Amino acid sequence: MEMSFASIAALLAAARSLVITGHVHPDGDCLGSVLALYHGLVAAGKKVQMLIDDDIPAMYRFMPGVELIGKPADAKFVCDALVVLDASDAERIGKVGAAVEAPVINIDHHTSNVKFADYWLIDSQAAATGELILRLFREMKTEITEDIAICLYTAIATDCGFFKYANTSPSTLRDAAYLMECGAQPHLIAEQLDTRPLATLTALGKVLQTLEFHAGGQIATISVTREVGEYAQNTEGFINYPRTVEGVEVAIMFKEAEDKNVRVSLRSKNIDVSSIALSFGGGGHMRAAGCTVTGSLKDAQAKVVTAVTEALDRTPL
Ligand code: 5GP
Ligand code: MN
Ligand code: MN
Repeated sequence: MEMSFASIAALLAAARSLVITGHVHPDGDCLGSVLALYHGLVAAGKKVQMLIDDDIPAMYRFMPGVELIGKPADAKFVCDALVVLDASDAERIGKVGAAVEAPVINIDHHTSNVKFADYWLIDSQAAATGELILRLFREMKTEITEDIAICLYTAIATDCGFFKYANTSPSTLRDAAYLMECGAQPHLIAEQLDTRPLATLTALGKVLQTLEFHAGGQIATISVTREVGEYAQNTEGFINYPRTVEGVEVAIMFKEAEDKNVRVSLRSKNIDVSSIALSFGGGGHMRAAGCTVTGSLKDAQAKVVTAVTEALDRTPL
């Protein structure tokens, strides 16, 4: 059932115990939104558990409360609501879906959202799920503490590329200014997010050597083998480098994962890559999307590059 901010606020007010989750391969928006909602609901006297079916990348571990995020276990959690943030389909939350028995509330901003929840609030105009949590807090009259401000600023800033991407709106910037007034310090947050182990930088050097161009230079790809991926620890942000090359419309990163799977990240300047990701069982936003392709690195490269080339042929730029 489609919900307004007021009706989501009423559902949350009626729940006594809740689980909050976000997607696997968690990013800043997912973690910042989960943590902010956690702090807001705990302050309202709720019993809240955060669960994410994945490891938390080191760069996000500065956010207050992150050590309280658990992983789903075999035992079932019975509670009044499962709140799913920044995830557009049921598979995106991994094993959390099976581990929690409760009505599902989904708050998200992906165009590819398949409306899998019992109750949903989806706004694809929002640059980040964090913007929606801030609007929800206004409805709930939740005090925006410094901890909440840090989490929501991180959520919003990371999903709009620090206000550089096309999803940045006047209200994104107003939200950021307001969160700064509530105690978020952008320069300190940026420093935390930009700090990497040396191994990650060394791996970036190796990954950039795999740079290839297709479709007359409109597509740039990079590839991360299993070995390099493990050494790198975290490849977040690598995709931004091929995207900066003059003439590139679509950047693609292929990353070898477990079970003969290849994780694919797509970034575009104009064309809709979310529909391409969706055709491979993934999803995302118009200009930033992802999917998992089963097969070798080579197979995945051939399939996805062909699909993107066809999309470019269909789209007059
Ligand atoms: P990334 O390339 O950073 O992993 O993801 C880019 C965007 O696409 C994010 O908004 C992310 O949530 C979405 N996305 C990435 N992979 C998948 C996927 O396998 N399924 C769905 N539904 N969305 C994805
Ligand atoms: Mn996300
Ligand atoms: Mn997001």
